[in-house]
Amino acid sequence: MTCPNCGSENVTIEMMQTASKSKHKGVGLGGHLNNAARGLTAVGTLGVSNLVWKKSKGGSKTKFTNEKVCLCQNCGNSWMIK
Ligand SMILES: [Zn+2]
Repeated sequence: MTCPNCGSENVTIEMMQTASKSKHKGVGLGGHLNNAARGLTAVGTLGVSNLVWKKSKGGSKTKFTNEKVCLCQNCGNSWMIK
C-alpha cells in the first residue's frame, strides 16, 4: 500500500466501524434529535420516559459496517479502501 498523495509506503491500515450509508442520514440525525429529546424528557419526568424510550429503541436497528481506513505516516493523508 502506497500513499496516493506522497507515494510513501509508510502507511497504516485501520478498521473503522461506521453506520451503514443507506441509513446513515436518517438514523444519525434522528439519533441526535432523539438523544436531545431523551435528555430533556428524562429531566422533566425523572427518568420514567426512559423506560418507554428503551422499548421504542429496541425496534430500530442500526447496521454497522467495517471500513478500512489508510493513514499515511509520512504526510498524514488518510483515505478509505473499498
Ligand atoms: Zn502520504
